[in-house]
Amino acid sequence: MLSRRRFLAATAAIALTPRARTGAARYDLVVKGGRVIDPAAGVDGVADVAIEGGRIRAVQPNVAAADAADVLDARGKIVTPGLIDVHVHVGAPDLTPAMLLRDGVTSMVDGGSAGADNIDALVRVAQAAPNRVRIFLNVARTGVTAGGELMDIAAADVDAATRAMQQHREWIAGVKVRLSQNVAGDHDLEAVRRARRVAGRLPVMLHVGQTFSPLPKILELLERGDIVTHIYSPPPHSLLDAAGHVLPEVRAARARGVRFDVGNGRNGHITWPIVDAATRDGFWPDTISSDITGPGRTLRVFNLPTVLSKFLMLGLPLDRAIACATRAAAASISAFKDLGTLKPGAPADVAVFDLREGDFEFVDNVDAKRNGPQMLTTSAVVMNGKKVAE
Ligand SMILES: [Zn+2]
Repeated sequence: MLSRRRFLAATAAIALTPRARTGAARYDLVVKGGRVIDPAAGVDGVADVAIEGGRIRAVQPNVAAADAADVLDARGKIVTPGLIDVHVHVGAPDLTPAMLLRDGVTSMVDGGSAGADNIDALVRVAQAAPNRVRIFLNVARTGVTAGGELMDIAAADVDAATRAMQQHREWIAGVKVRLSQNVAGDHDLEAVRRARRVAGRLPVMLHVGQTFSPLPKILELLERGDIVTHIYSPPPHSLLDAAGHVLPEVRAARARGVRFDVGNGRNGHITWPIVDAATRDGFWPDTISSDITGPGRTLRVFNLPTVLSKFLMLGLPLDRAIACATRAAAASISAFKDLGTLKPGAPADVAVFDLREGDFEFVDNVDAKRNGPQMLTTSAVVMNGKKVAE
């Protein structure tokens, strides 16, 4: 005779697998026949991605049609883990997480749009989003302001920020601090010290470029896991020395675990000559992020696949560019550590792209034009095992 517990377990198993009883498909959805690029799993080849119960179940050639309740035809396309953008701004109504989902961004981090005074509204945006949103809390109480939120260093209120962190622990992934001289005046080093105190064991994301202090002075204050964004910012105080080579202090920071992120943005964050010089020295980014805002949708940024395409033009191989927005991005954010891969058991976040061949124009932050032969455009997106409506 079955014990009550075993009886309940047996009925639960039946309830969870109704298809097993009716002989229907094993998988809810199969993304079929695309070139699967999953750097975290070491996969780059044509395969089917089988999804069931919101999770990846298998990546293998030729899943039988009878095993699929639904098929997403990806023949001729690129299939990757859902993209992770570690630097976006979704605090204003002109750019929502749902808009970014249609680009293939299934997970993102807002980079300091809000501080202790206005974090509640941004947490509500994160809670309501169809994709995964986490937040870097701005060390300044106001979050990003046009006039520069740290011109008065008193805005970097450690106690207020610490209370906000404790209150919204599950949503806050780290602390953001913007350091350009037109944001933080000559307080950049003190602002970093305060951000580090608030962050504790979480990462600090530093917005660098045109700072009062030289970059090596700033890097001295960082710990393993901290993220430097806008790494290809033009001078003053870029990552290059006077001869145009990557500063030894920048390499040393990377060697001790500081991470370097693109943060494309619109103004002051990236110019082609700086990228050229840095990459000639082998200094490619750890993560490629967009720093997208509402205005960035139509100016200089556009979307994360376009930013990835810029790096294809700049010479980064496709699999490495994908790694910068999947595996490496997941490794930067502890809440995302199980994401950025299509390994069996992972949440079924999948992006499908066309890799178009042609002659595509890209601009940097000063509108310098360059043409590249390839452009990634989003074709389909799966979030938690469900196809996202076009
Ligand atoms: Zn930003």
